[in-house]
Amino acid sequence: MTTLINGKEVAQNLRNELKKEIDILKTKTGKVPGLAVVQVGNVAASSVYVKSKTKSAKEVGIEVFDHHLPDEITQEDLLKLVNTLNNQYNVNGILVQLPLPKHINEQAVLDSIHPDKDADGFHPLNVGKLSIASDNDESLLVPCTPYGCLIMLKGLGIDLSGKNAVVIGRSNIVGKPMAQLLLKESCTVTIAHSKTKNIEDVCRNADIVVAAVGRPKMVKGDWVKKGAIVIDVGINRITIEVEGVEKNKLVGDVDFDEASKNASAITPVPGGVGPMTIACLLRNTTIAFKNKTKQ
Ligand code: NDP
Repeated sequence: MTTLINGKEVAQNLRNELKKEIDILKTKTGKVPGLAVVQVGNVAASSVYVKSKTKSAKEVGIEVFDHHLPDEITQEDLLKLVNTLNNQYNVNGILVQLPLPKHINEQAVLDSIHPDKDADGFHPLNVGKLSIASDNDESLLVPCTPYGCLIMLKGLGIDLSGKNAVVIGRSNIVGKPMAQLLLKESCTVTIAHSKTKNIEDVCRNADIVVAAVGRPKMVKGDWVKKGAIVIDVGINRITIEVEGVEKNKLVGDVDFDEASKNASAITPVPGGVGPMTIACLLRNTTIAFKNKTKQ
C-alpha cells in the first residue's frame, strides 16, 4: 500500500497549530506577529502567491502589511522600503516576492532584509546558522519549502536516522537547505544535479528521494527503490491534449503514476509540497515574533 502524503491536510494542521499559538501569544504579550509582503510589478504568478500568502497569514491571526510597488521602482527605493520595514516595530517578518524586475539585483535586496525578520530564511546569516546547527533548534528561520518537506517526512512517523536520502537539485532555496535539514536528521545525504552521472542509479539507492529540479516527470518509476519515500517539489506547467483540446496541467518532477507503484509514500502535485511552503512562511513569521518577544 502506498501512502499518499496529503500536503493540504498537513499544512492545514500546521496552520491550526499556529493559530492556537498566536492566540496564546496575543494573550501573553498583547501583540500578534506582523508580516510585510512586498510585491514589485504585476507578474501573474506572483500575484497569485501573494494573495494566497496574505489570506493564509490573516487566517492564523498574523497582521499583514501589504506593499505593492510599481514595476519601475528603483533598487534604491526598494532598499529604502526594506530598511523602513527592518525598523518597523510591528513587522516581524519581511517577504519580498520573487522574481523582481531585471533592473533590480535580487540578492542585494534579500541580503538587505534584517536576518531576524527573514521570513523566507534566505539571508546568508540564516543559511549559515542552518548549516552550523546540529540539533533541532526551533528558533531558526529555515527556507520554507524544504522545511515543509521535512515536516511531511516526519509526519510519516519513521526514524529518519541512517536513511539514504537523495536530493535532486542544489538550488539555494530548495536543494541545499533540504540536504542540510536531512543531514541534521542524521540521514546519509547525496545531492544530485545536472552534472551527476548515472542519476538513475544514484536514486535507486535512496530510501528517500526529494526531487527539486523543474523538469516534468523526470524521475521515472524504475528510479525509485521498492518502499522508498518520494517527495516531489517540482511544479511544472505542461500542455496536454484532452479530446483534441489543449489543456494546461500541473505536474511534478516525478512521474507520479509510475513512481507510486514502487514508493511506500509519495507526495502528489498539486496538493503535496506546495501548501506546506506557505504554512512554513507563517511558521517563520511566528518564530521571528517569539524570538523578538523572548516567548
Ligand atoms: P532551480 O532551477 O533553481 O534548480 C534546479 C536544480 O535542478 C539545479 O540544481 C539543477 O542542477 C538541477 N537540474 C536541472 N536539470 C537537471 C537534470 N537533468 N538532472 C539533475 N538535476 C538537474 O529550481 P528550484 O530549486 O528553485 O525549483 C525546483 C522545482 O521546485 C521547480 O519546479 C520549482 O517550480 C519548484 N518549486 C516548488 C516550490 C513549492 O512550493 N512547491 C517552491 C520552490 C520551487 P545545476 O545546479 O547543475 O544546474
